Amino acid sequence: MTSDTLRPDAFRDECGVFGIFGDSEAANLAYLGLHALQHRGQEGAGIAASDGRLIRASRGRGLVGDVFGGQELANLTGNMAIGHVRYSTSGEASLRNVQPFVVRYRDGQLAVAHNGNIVNATQLRDELEAEGSIFATSSDTEVILHLIAGSTQETFINRLVDALLRVEGAYSLVLMTENTMVAVRDPWGFRPLVLGKRGDAWVVASETCALGLMGAELVREVAPGEMVIVDGDGEQSLRPFPRRPRRACVFEHIYFARPDSTVFGRPVYDTRIGLGKLLSEEHPIEADVVIPVPDSGVPGALGYSQESGIPYGLGLMRSHYVGRTFIEPSQQIRDFGVKLKLSPIKSVIAGKRVVVVDDSLVRGTTLRKVVRMLRDHGATEIHLRITAPPTVGSCYYGVDTPTRDELIATRMGVEGICEYLNADSLGYLSIASLRRSEGEDAGRFCEACFTGDYPIDPVPEGARKQMPLFVEDSPTEKA
Ligand code: SF4
Repeated sequence: MTSDTLRPDAFRDECGVFGIFGDSEAANLAYLGLHALQHRGQEGAGIAASDGRLIRASRGRGLVGDVFGGQELANLTGNMAIGHVRYSTSGEASLRNVQPFVVRYRDGQLAVAHNGNIVNATQLRDELEAEGSIFATSSDTEVILHLIAGSTQETFINRLVDALLRVEGAYSLVLMTENTMVAVRDPWGFRPLVLGKRGDAWVVASETCALGLMGAELVREVAPGEMVIVDGDGEQSLRPFPRRPRRACVFEHIYFARPDSTVFGRPVYDTRIGLGKLLSEEHPIEADVVIPVPDSGVPGALGYSQESGIPYGLGLMRSHYVGRTFIEPSQQIRDFGVKLKLSPIKSVIAGKRVVVVDDSLVRGTTLRKVVRMLRDHGATEIHLRITAPPTVGSCYYGVDTPTRDELIATRMGVEGICEYLNADSLGYLSIASLRRSEGEDAGRFCEACFTGDYPIDPVPEGARKQMPLFVEDSPTEKA
């Protein structure tokens, strides 16, 4: 399990994407790649593979290991594959939400895996429907497919460019025809995407941890606005879109990405250690022990401990065996949720003044329970430290977030939140310190959920989320 199942009130990344071209074990390697990206989405997983003539796909709800536990991979033959892990943002874990989507249009088959959110999807859909398009789903990714199919350009690549020129928003896409793989990142560069090589095979993935697992070398980040095309003639790069200021999602560094990844050119672990150090400088406190909210708070707590000199301790144990069935059980059982997932180690916290480091504070429901648990087990003081600024805005660029009203920092100030959480003190990292951590890239990140400064104008609240597809009927599907 990953941090989101532990903390249902946290921000959730929506998806991870993967692609490989030029390896006879393509589907098996995609399976490994998706395992490494599992933290980016646990509602469903899918792989599409091509043998040069036909694209076959398999996808299902649940974790990668559950979806591909049987004969599914054996049917996915060919030397090219793309894969996807996702969250449902609609609250319904619909199978039809699970990508890659595979369609057949006048030029043959096309498979697509998308991480991001198309901000003008509703408007584009209205236009397409007015022109006669019939939509099978309400997904923003399907809008891209319709735009490709409807383009009057002559080649697939030109049709793809034509389509994406009409799209505003966040996309790290991996697409596949029967014989070509394309990786493309929006001009703002909101979501990560890297290019690697494994022997003669080309690999693309949301994060470098997927490359490391299979022994692939990182070649480089796919640049914002870049389109990488891989086919039998090799790899080529295009920059077909108007340039935009880079706005990589700073939350990838704070929370989403795996600590062993390098994202946007920076090691995530080192970045989080640095955030903890800056937090200690900014909000020092006299205390006996620094503990993380595991797992995602660990590097920040280590950094805080290193900078402050206060010993680090593992004051909370996390159960990695709590399945998704415990995420939204009945109200009666839900109250046990945090206890199921986190258990205090009394010898670390009893009689101690405890600094608790976490990487974000969204609704505050989990931390409130953590504070109560620590007090019940003898902590004498609890000082909360958050390695991010107060979260005051929803995300429109591919992250599943609560509405603005649900964010605790929009309803009360630091003192009020501290009181609500029943902590002795509360300190957030400031925007200034966050920018210090960004070094020479300061100002080149999206920080909109902390500042309200949105790079692309958000759509109205009711239409903000990645649009859900229609409700699903069966637990698995072969396409
Ligand atoms: S609004 Fe927040 S979560 Fe969304 S892309 Fe910007 S920094 Fe990332």
